Amino acid sequence: MESRAINFGAGPSALPASILQEATKGLLNFNGTGLGIAEISHRSKEFTTYLQCVEHNIRKLLDVQPTHSILFTQGGGSTQFSAVVLNMLARHRLLHPQLTDEDRVLDYVVTGSWSKKAAEEARRMGGSTVHIAADSRKYSKDQKSFDNIPTTDAYSFSNDPALIYYCANETVDGVEFSAEETSPASFPFQLLPKNALLPLVGDYSSSFMSRPIPHLSDHAIIYAGAQKNVGPAGLTILIVRNDCIVDVDAAARLGAIPVPICLSYKTLADHNSLYNTPPVLSIYITGLVLEYMLQLGGLDYYAGLTNRKSKKLYDVLKDGETKGIFKGKVKGGSGSQMNVVFDVLGEGLLAKFIAGAEERGMKGLKGHRSVGGVRVSIYNAVTEEETDQLISYMEQFAGQHEVNKE
Ligand code: PMP
Repeated sequence: MESRAINFGAGPSALPASILQEATKGLLNFNGTGLGIAEISHRSKEFTTYLQCVEHNIRKLLDVQPTHSILFTQGGGSTQFSAVVLNMLARHRLLHPQLTDEDRVLDYVVTGSWSKKAAEEARRMGGSTVHIAADSRKYSKDQKSFDNIPTTDAYSFSNDPALIYYCANETVDGVEFSAEETSPASFPFQLLPKNALLPLVGDYSSSFMSRPIPHLSDHAIIYAGAQKNVGPAGLTILIVRNDCIVDVDAAARLGAIPVPICLSYKTLADHNSLYNTPPVLSIYITGLVLEYMLQLGGLDYYAGLTNRKSKKLYDVLKDGETKGIFKGKVKGGSGSQMNVVFDVLGEGLLAKFIAGAEERGMKGLKGHRSVGGVRVSIYNAVTEEETDQLISYMEQFAGQHEVNKE
């Protein structure tokens, strides 16, 4: 194979080369059918069996119990910003038909640009009052930056909200922790009411399958696009607690917002995610990646790998900060383990840093257009050796441009 660049892109992001090679075989001939995966009917026995296997492997990797259904859809995380609101408002309407829209509350924890977008979409949909349960910008120096995870006293949750939304990559991913523990600087699961039917919604788009999901069984909905850790764009994976799969039409008859048929979780569940044509190719490659992940040791393996890669990156960043060349964009302990973001200080040095990385075969490092600087995404398929190559380059660059020399 021709040499491939090291891909630190934020998504679509790196996939294991061996999986891509295997996928080319399936593109020509899927599981001995003589038909390519992009050509075969999604209702064929071969494909439906494959889909069941993908579901089985997701359950196995994340330890998803039968209390929750796994659904496959399209539209990415952004479509779920609307879909979760509609489905959870329908559920709330069935539980409390008498409430006014004003008294139907949605709690949003706003800790970054994605949760901000999600809250804005909830407001746009109407039919409820959007309550900001915490806003991390209030705790930044300039009152505008998403550079911290608020401490527990910053949160105010409503009584019986229709949903409580948080974005995992902005809150729970900042620190090393096991599936059971949460750190003080992470989403405060411990503050939530002990309710078996908690309407907790986690956006896992950016960290899905990088490690176990803490308190998974307490969630009403978890969703993620495939395009970061598990496959190509096009597939969205939902883990929905069964009481959140509701008759949205019955809710609409009681005054809830009608739910477009393909956004209704009940439509997806009733048709085993095959109401309409699913993203077959993305499902296929995701299936190959999940098998590969299981072979390597599942999420314990990936959690360890993620911890090691991110720790080394944060260490070299800190070192560059003392040399006056790098400056992290988030406060210590609040940084994501998947996306490490920093500025390169000094006239023209950011462009030089990116260009030098490209010359060395490292791509996708330019920061998000709204944030600037450098963004290093270290999704599952970015190996430790590849991360080490970037770290050596950062060390070398910081040494060459050090401003705090004695
Ligand atoms: N939520 C989060 C946390 C994300 O990281 C992203 C994409 N980077 C999205 C939502 C939007 O996902 P999509 O582009 O699949 O709509």
